[in-house]
Amino acid sequence: MKNLNIIFYMILVFVVGFSIGTGFIITYEQSTFKGFWWKEDPIVANCYGSELLIGRARSSLRFWDDLGYKHKKYVHKPTIEICDGPKILEGYIIFRKAGDDQLKANILAFTTRRHASTQMVGSTIYFRNDTQNMDLLIEHELGHAFGFIHTDIPEHIMHPMYDQMGIKFWIPD
Ligand SMILES: [Zn+2]
Repeated sequence: MKNLNIIFYMILVFVVGFSIGTGFIITYEQSTFKGFWWKEDPIVANCYGSELLIGRARSSLRFWDDLGYKHKKYVHKPTIEICDGPKILEGYIIFRKAGDDQLKANILAFTTRRHASTQMVGSTIYFRNDTQNMDLLIEHELGHAFGFIHTDIPEHIMHPMYDQMGIKFWIPD
């Protein structure tokens, strides 16, 4: 278990105007922009429920697919075995609804990852109730699930502040 770590992103994306004057904890245990890699393309499963729109999920996955970060398939209505299974399922990126006790104020969503050394084992993305269809949000969280951390470059998809995030992606120097 020693090299099996879960990284918690208490990160994200703060609503415009919501973040002024308050402190936020941003933690990473990662020093390079892309620290983790999937050995095999992950399966993406939606355990959030039908309120997460299939079109939003598919266009978010297409964004990463076009950049070369592939997934094996997308399952919009997974079986109970998957959704009632472990919090992190090997080989999967899972969308889930966050419990009230999991979310600090101002956090729209966050991603947890399990990895063995630099290899991704599994990842789960938690959305605050009703944030799941917000523009760019699934794209941003999938970026974490594909192994990226934040950058403070404005308009970059991995910017941690929702109001400064954009649809652009490149690996910074
Ligand atoms: Zn983030």
